[in-house]
Amino acid sequence: MNDSLGQHLQKSLSTIKKARWYRQEQKITDLSGYTITIDGEQLINFASNDYLGLATDIRLKQAVIEATERYGNGSTGSRLLSGHRTLHDDLEGAIASLKQTPKALVFSSGYLANLGTISALVGKKDLILGDEYNHSSLKNGAKLSQAHAVEYQHINCEDLVEQLTKNRANYRHCLIITDSVFSMDGDIAPLPLLLDIAKKFDCWLMVDEAHGTGVMGKHGAGCLEHFQIKSERIIQIGTLSKAVGSLGGYVAGSEVLIDFLRNRCPTWIYTTALSVADTAAALTGVNIIRTEAHRRHNLWTNINFLKKLCSEANLAILPSDSAILCLPLKDAPEALNMSSKLRSHGFYVPAIRPPTVPTSRLRFSLMATHEIRDLQQLVNVIEVQN
Ligand SMILES: *Cc1c(COP(=O)(O)O)cnc(C)c1O
Repeated sequence: MNDSLGQHLQKSLSTIKKARWYRQEQKITDLSGYTITIDGEQLINFASNDYLGLATDIRLKQAVIEATERYGNGSTGSRLLSGHRTLHDDLEGAIASLKQTPKALVFSSGYLANLGTISALVGKKDLILGDEYNHSSLKNGAKLSQAHAVEYQHINCEDLVEQLTKNRANYRHCLIITDSVFSMDGDIAPLPLLLDIAKKFDCWLMVDEAHGTGVMGKHGAGCLEHFQIKSERIIQIGTLSKAVGSLGGYVAGSEVLIDFLRNRCPTWIYTTALSVADTAAALTGVNIIRTEAHRRHNLWTNINFLKKLCSEANLAILPSDSAILCLPLKDAPEALNMSSKLRSHGFYVPAIRPPTVPTSRLRFSLMATHEIRDLQQLVNVIEVQN
């Protein structure tokens, strides 16, 4: 006899627990900025993607209130039926200006933007080459597309070229896909080299700027701006839920790309339009990124300061050029232990462990709004525990 559904699920959960892979939500009961209140305890927050502190910005809140009063709550339908508001046009225009692309298209989340865009662009006759550390949404987008998907070793251009040499001729189109800033390591994809390879092997290049937007580049446009590269071959995607401080995803690119997606992308066509509240908050967030460079400068002051403190304390953090810094630890129990010690000293720093990543670590997300003294105290506590 087969297990009942309940028995099957129980067994799976106990395997997860045995491996110490079991995870739970935190009970956050208050405004979540650079401090966070979990179970009534106020902690300095090193787990937020809200790099610029916009998620709690008063102007985003006011934009939400005004938009909700004008349009109501639900967007009532898909963009092509009853869901489209002029606010969506405004947001797409602002994203295109930030990204310096002719057009942009917004989705209900970054995850949906990735799933839908990949599966609209390539199909059974095509090839996908993806970095092995790519975000879950990119990997699942590749599966959904039914293209032949091959992973190359993390950031390893030689391996990418080898895989292309082996496979490229057997397929019609080829899409190379990469995170720009890798979400669990904080390192950056070698985008200029990837673009050269894309040209040489006649591929398109999809770059997920989820952790790059608002953080990287002279005007906060992301890693493509940081490296100053532009090409017709590049498709930029990203999220409105990290530095932008709202919720939603986007694709930025040529007019024809956006027009194509509006007609072919299932996760845009067959889902309800991004809510007016999220759209209004995101529009305000994108405009703040475009106009208030000091927020990004504060963030970088904090990133560089924490890196300096770690190096003085001989803490071997992983190489990073972003707002994500990682301290590798021996195994999951050690990472969990360190995380709970830090918590008892007033710091919220999550332990990231398998299966999310191959090796256990503490992951610090920096914010423009962290105080220098928080960073000093943090490193002091780690030094004593280590
Ligand atoms: C967070 C993230 C996403 C998903 O974005 P959501 O808007 O949260 O769905 C996609 N790609 C990467 C690299 C991310 O870090």
